[in-house]
Parts: sequence; C-alpha cells; structure tokens
Amino acid sequence: MVLEIVGMVHQTRLETGCEALSERVLAALRRVERHRFVPSAQIAQAYDNHPLPIGAGQTISQPFIVALMTELMALNADSKVLEVGTGSGYQTAVLAELVAAVYTIEIVEPLGLEAARALAAAGYPNVHTRLGDGHAGWPQEAPFDAIIVTAAASELPQPLIEQLKPGGRLVLPLDAPDGTQSLSVVEKSAAGAITVRPVLRVRFVPFTRH
Ligand code: SAH
Repeated sequence: MVLEIVGMVHQTRLETGCEALSERVLAALRRVERHRFVPSAQIAQAYDNHPLPIGAGQTISQPFIVALMTELMALNADSKVLEVGTGSGYQTAVLAELVAAVYTIEIVEPLGLEAARALAAAGYPNVHTRLGDGHAGWPQEAPFDAIIVTAAASELPQPLIEQLKPGGRLVLPLDAPDGTQSLSVVEKSAAGAITVRPVLRVRFVPFTRH
C-alpha cells in the first residue's frame, strides 16, 4: 500500500506542490494497522489504496489522500492538532503517530463511538475524541498548530480559522463553483492573513451540520 501511495504522490507533485512524503509520514503510514479501522466486512480490502464504506453512508478515506493531507499539514512532534470528521479513526491514528496531541470530533454518534474504541484498542493515549458538530471546532483546546477537515465544506468554517495559530495550516476539501471539490491548504500568516491554495481535485462526503 505504501509503495502505491509514494507513486501517486510523485504523479501528482506538479498539482499538489508536494514533491514526496517525508520520512516521518512514511513511517506513520507503515505503523498504523488500517485493518483495525475497517468494518469486519471490509477486512480483506483493508490494505488496498481505496476508500471503503464504514457505515452511516460514510467512508474511510483513500490512503493516498490521508498521506497527502497529513503531509500538507506540515506537522512536527510538538504539534497540537484538530481533526473534524473522525470517521473510522484511521486518519486520526496516522496523526497520533506524528504529533503530541490530536483532538477529533465526529458528528455521527455510532461512528464516533466505534472510532474511539478502535483508537483506544490500538493504544493512542494522545488522542481525544468528542461527538458533535465540528463546525464550531474545539474552543477549549484552541489554538491548534494544524487543523484537518475530512468532509467537504461549501465555505471556510470561520471558527476553525479563528482556532488556528498564526503560522498554522488548515487542510480541507472545499466545494468549487462547478460542483467539484478541491483539496485546499489554508495558511494563516504570522500577522494573521489568510491564503487559500487549491491543490487537487477530490471527492469527499459532504460536511453536515446539526
Ligand atoms: N478521515 C476519516 C474520513 C471519514 S469521512 C477516515 O479516514 O475514516 C468524513 C467524516 O466526517 C464522516 O464520518 C462524517 O460523519 C464526518 N462529518 C461530517 N460533517 C461533520 C461535522 N460537521 N462535524 C464532525 N464530523 C463531521
């Protein structure tokens, strides 16, 4: 699976600006056991480079997309990260391998509960899970060095921009006017200015609201 991801990162480098995965991200992808986060009916496909259904009409993201989003977050070992859309918990686990603390929010209760169980079973004491609408972020734990949203939003969620540290990055799929979605990197400068850079055409489930 990791070899295929490396190939796809190389193939898309001109669009994404991501030349290659860092050693740290590669190591995290090798360490996380994706089968732990896949429903038992999908176990045989757990190490394929494809999205998979996880119930409630939701999907576990394609490993290539997990890898790319993780790389685009520009993390380091001290980072404090927010994830909106826990889903299966697989992306959460990859982040937890790389950073000091991950705060993750899921709106669909059974998915959030199952992911919390799988993450605890895999042993990630630096992961903090919560059920609810992630649009409001997690103000009690803000600010964050990086934020990832794993469902497609029609506009930038303002509370998440506010909860990003200066110099921090928000990576998310954004709806484009033509009905497609662009994986986008939002940067907040040291002075607080916001820039948005679309990097790749993607297909995510929609961001929902309570
Ligand atoms: N990274 C996850 C992706 C899951 S799909 C994985 O690899 O498994 C996106 C998830 O975002 C879904 O589980 C969906 O229920 C959740 N979601 C959608 N809107 C949300 C919101 N407003 N707040 C929190 N989670 C949300």
